[in-house]
Amino acid sequence: MIRYKEIFLGKHCNNKCLYCSYRLSDSEQPDFNDVTTALEQTGEDSIALYGGEPTLRSDLIRIIDTAHRNGYRRVKIVTNGRALSDNQVLLEIVKAGSYLFEIKLWGSKPDLHDYLTETPNSFLQTIQGLENLQRLPCDKFTCLRIPICKQNFTDIINATITGINLGVNRIILSLEGDNLPLKDLLPHIRVALNISILNRVWILTEGLPFCIMQGLEHHIGEIYYGYDSKIYPRTHRHHKNCQHCTYQEICRGVETEYLNKFGHTEFSPIKENKYFGEIRALNG
Ligand code: SF4
Repeated sequence: MIRYKEIFLGKHCNNKCLYCSYRLSDSEQPDFNDVTTALEQTGEDSIALYGGEPTLRSDLIRIIDTAHRNGYRRVKIVTNGRALSDNQVLLEIVKAGSYLFEIKLWGSKPDLHDYLTETPNSFLQTIQGLENLQRLPCDKFTCLRIPICKQNFTDIINATITGINLGVNRIILSLEGDNLPLKDLLPHIRVALNISILNRVWILTEGLPFCIMQGLEHHIGEIYYGYDSKIYPRTHRHHKNCQHCTYQEICRGVETEYLNKFGHTEFSPIKENKYFGEIRALNG
């Protein structure tokens, strides 16, 4: 899978998502020269622009142009999707050469999504942005990120179906926070995965260890792009049972705060697994 160099464009955002570490924080805003310097440090041929909310920057088109002039082939925008509800904004971004989008959806209904973003009408704008993308008569790639938390986990199946109906290319079910017992979540994950597979939409998870995902290991996103994301930082650690587990060398374990709250007894070490060789090879 393509690895993206992550370029930070500032904490400013028009949502106030309950689980966002930048929530209500405006202070850090690299100027155009800072961004240009980051872009000049080459290595990868693909970048992901993230914030905060990248589409709020008035120099976004100039940044995309600069990225292309520095030789990046792919420029992904990690966004809440609200700005894309304005078709003109979407067309300008695509015209500048960015046709990869990762959009966050917290729920399949306005009340749930808007509650978790703490922003009225954010759901309608995000959905409109996804619809505009779907209608765009050119190549594009849309990844729908569905963050999972205690307040929305029973809705992830509906959110997955919403994404499929909106023609997204990939879905990521990403565990946020540390207050949701995984045994409660897993049945919903299984159904969401099956629905997406049946509809031929690629679906991955983040934040769930191999021992929880047995039989579904190849849907663990971290296998393909690793654990080191500045956009979605995690503080995994191994626990007592990991030392007996086949996957210890490629698994980072479980979120530290989750282990502090719920302990490690639900995470049984995997003694043997016929897919381990293939998964280790994918992990690179
Ligand atoms: S027991 Fe530990 S190493 Fe093994 S899959 Fe679970 S969290 Fe990862």
